[in-house]
Amino acid sequence: MIKTISYLGLGTMGRGMASNLLKAGYNLTVWNRNAEKCEPFARKGARVADTPADAVRDVELVMYCLSNDQAVEEVVFGAKGILSGIKEGQIAIDMSTVLPATSLREQEAYAKRGVDFLDVPVFGSKQEAADAKLWIMAAGNKAIFEKVKPVLEHLGQTVHYFGKNGNAAAMKLVGNLIVALEMEALAEGLVLAQKASLDLSTVMEVVKVADFGSPLLVSNGQNILKRDFSPSFALKLMLKDAGLIEKFGESLESPIPALRVVEKNLESAVALGFRKENASAVIKALEQEAGVEVKGAPRAEIPAVSKRQPTTAGRL
Ligand code: NAP
Repeated sequence: MIKTISYLGLGTMGRGMASNLLKAGYNLTVWNRNAEKCEPFARKGARVADTPADAVRDVELVMYCLSNDQAVEEVVFGAKGILSGIKEGQIAIDMSTVLPATSLREQEAYAKRGVDFLDVPVFGSKQEAADAKLWIMAAGNKAIFEKVKPVLEHLGQTVHYFGKNGNAAAMKLVGNLIVALEMEALAEGLVLAQKASLDLSTVMEVVKVADFGSPLLVSNGQNILKRDFSPSFALKLMLKDAGLIEKFGESLESPIPALRVVEKNLESAVALGFRKENASAVIKALEQEAGVEVKGAPRAEIPAVSKRQPTTAGRL
């Protein structure tokens, strides 16, 4: 049974997961690029490491959740990175959303050191990470999956095994393709409802009960009406994922026409300055074009501006 774990990357998602590992009684080491984020964990008894190489010392399982492929490149493969410290017999799992090709590259590099690797991305956001309610996918060696499954069960409400390495990373991109299109559908629908002078609270009432609704549409729709764009899943990460989905789709010659439209709207929202807001802030690009602001009562009209200029600025 695994007892000692390192967690690297204490961002929105990693912070919640690492807290739940501490609550579950694991002996935890943490590392984060900005060391301040380690302080609350130190106060609760975690060991704070100076470098990724130091963080993986003397633990059975190494877990990390980092922004993107570039961050994984630096933390895993870089100087004083995980690979320079990890030893035969240890297990590494990457919970970041990255290209399946990156997961495969990680698996190969770890295998050369006798280390087992699983790609383990997650669905759910800040709240689900904090509440141990994530939906977790895992891929790699089945026996290793069985060994780490009890740990994952402390972080999520379901755990799904996807077979060979790279498959869970691929499933994450499939899911985020659907998320991106849902978010765009919600934004376009609410702007249209506002232009049609519908009562938006009643619109959301229908979204909540009708067969086309989903928890994601309901929570994001309600927050848009409150003009709450505090980040659970940042717009910049949604744009990063759109880029990954585009690359992945192209590599398999799988059509993604709607995703390309969403990507342009995400780029427009980033160009307007909303990259650090929640991904639902994609609606702000449409609002600018429509000359309205979508919100609950009282409703406010804002002046129309000239046509939106798609841009490539702000990509991660
Ligand atoms: P976040 O809050 O931006 O945190 C990102 C983490 O990565 C931070 O710990 C950050 O360190 C670290 N990092 C970034 N670049 C780095 C680098 N070059 N070297 C070392 N560390 C670096 O992001 P998040 O929302 O937790 O998301 C993390 C991953 O989970 C992403 O791949 C995202 O797509 C995925 N994900 C997110 C959600 C969500 O709803 N938020 C849901 C599912 C999956 P600093 O603190 O020093 O900046």
